[in-house]
Amino acid sequence: MQDSSFSTAEFIRKKRDGGVWADTEIQAFIHGVTQGTVSDAQIAAYAMAAYFQDVNMAERIALTQAMRDSGTVLDWRSMPLRGPRLDKHSTGGVGDLVSLVLGPLWAACGVVVPMIAGRGLAHTGGTVDKLESIPGYRTDVSVERFQQVAAEVGVAIVGQTPQLAPADGRIYAVRDVTATVEQVGLITASILSKKLAAGLEFLVMDVKVGNGAFMRTAAEAEALGDSLRRVGAGAGLPTEVVVTDMSSPLARSAGNALEVEEAVAFLCGEVRSPRLREVVWTLGEVGLVQAGCAADRAEAAALLDAAWRSGRAAEHWGRMVHGLGGTWDGLQGGMRPGPAAPVCREVLPPEEARSAGHRVVAIDTRRVGNAVVALGGGRTRPGETIDASVGLTGLAALGEPAEGPMACIHAADEGSARNAEAMLLEAYRWG
Ligand code: URA
Repeated sequence: MQDSSFSTAEFIRKKRDGGVWADTEIQAFIHGVTQGTVSDAQIAAYAMAAYFQDVNMAERIALTQAMRDSGTVLDWRSMPLRGPRLDKHSTGGVGDLVSLVLGPLWAACGVVVPMIAGRGLAHTGGTVDKLESIPGYRTDVSVERFQQVAAEVGVAIVGQTPQLAPADGRIYAVRDVTATVEQVGLITASILSKKLAAGLEFLVMDVKVGNGAFMRTAAEAEALGDSLRRVGAGAGLPTEVVVTDMSSPLARSAGNALEVEEAVAFLCGEVRSPRLREVVWTLGEVGLVQAGCAADRAEAAALLDAAWRSGRAAEHWGRMVHGLGGTWDGLQGGMRPGPAAPVCREVLPPEEARSAGHRVVAIDTRRVGNAVVALGGGRTRPGETIDASVGLTGLAALGEPAEGPMACIHAADEGSARNAEAMLLEAYRWG
């Protein structure tokens, strides 16, 4: 596969000087990354050259396909499946527990959701970390087990395995520490290569925009959305894009076990955050229409409603949890997975806001996410262990009045609770 005339240094130089890579050059480079003949220093230089010079659509498609082919591509042909393989992916946010809810909802509507999810990144939470708060739940099962649960239950959510798109795993680790994550072409290829390796037929991308998202402006979110749509089409994965607001936390809670508890409550019929419901239904409808399970959004909404109100979505959640080793599904109500954090304290809005009858006018969502990280619910270094029990619940939403508590902090000790309280008070603006 490796062409002996290929030179990694020349490949990097070409992009550094504004050139366009040929498909065969991209394939040779990705092959070298997978085989270990390309060094981390060369990957860093590649990513920085791409960052400054950009990669065009044809290069993005070639990169996506080469990274997909760097490992196993799941083959579903021999498996009896109940419906098309559909998945969603979010570019990351705070209180974004959509995957936990939408996976089982879609499964209850008859599609198959083989979801390979990620861990938290910077101030954003990750679905894998959330699920790992469930005692016994394994996110690192074999590819065979993953496929078996997805086929039997209709949904399986696990973490990335070393077999799937290993070149992306290596490149991403270098990008993460070389200030080269925020490059639309590289993000596109990274996300889509993993989704293609999972053998999906359809994908809905939730591109977050706002002060809690990686894409801060509408123009940036549109550029990423357009890239995902075009590269998805070019690489063989029809991709619908929905841009959703992340200028306030999506759910009422932020933090791993706490979000799982809210997700289970949602699946059992309790909507604490109307915005969360709106985003789940929007993505859910778009996906069902795209996968051919509904003629239009209204029909798709009716399917989602029926799956939710009948308890079938909750039942699929329970079957997925048990199928992946979990011993807690929360369906008996009232509890969260694992032990509660030792300290639980309510935060009141500032006295001036309460006496003036003010409302929430803005939330620095990144700061809210960072408060969870500071509590120990996220990582500041790769591989760090996190505390699944900590975080925030009862978060006041935009427009809500300064009456009662604006949040409840769940912390490992008094000191970290005080620190999180100060961060929260700074994050909220009243008026
Ligand atoms: N998520 C990914 O999987 N890859 C990126 O490059 C950025 C976010």
